[in-house]
Amino acid sequence: MADADVGDRFRAFLRERNLPITSQRLVIADLLLNAPGHLSAEDVTAQLGEKGHKFGLATVYRTLDLLVASGLVVERDFGEGFRRYEPAREVPHHYHLTCTVCGSVTEFFDERVEDIIRISARARGFVPAKHRLLVQGTCRTCRGAPHGSTRSVS
Ligand SMILES: [Zn+2]
Ligand SMILES: [Zn+2]
Repeated sequence: MADADVGDRFRAFLRERNLPITSQRLVIADLLLNAPGHLSAEDVTAQLGEKGHKFGLATVYRTLDLLVASGLVVERDFGEGFRRYEPAREVPHHYHLTCTVCGSVTEFFDERVEDIIRISARARGFVPAKHRLLVQGTCRTCRGAPHGSTRSVS
């Protein structure tokens, strides 16, 4: 409920397109728009379940598509075989570090990366419009956990 404003914008979006403003859609929107970000459809369904809402995955997916179409939510593909979603307020631009062990996502931004992309592109006569940066690896927690080490010494 932190941002009633975006909830209103989603309602307005549904109204403009003559789409039913169902309580399910509003509950899903409320959860996602106030989430810290990067939830999968399964995450959304599970979190709704914890709050006592038993929504099917298909309903969640349909609403996520609508939220993306409305521009309030951004879809991310971290190469995991499924999509994650984050509120568009998380944009401006940032990069993602994704852990391939636990699936955690860390955001960062560094002006130096922007400079390097600009300089590299321009040196090749290219005018960059936008870019995405995804770094896959192992997070601090997973590296620190002793059971996380699957390397065998032979
Ligand atoms: Zn991890
Ligand atoms: Zn993000």
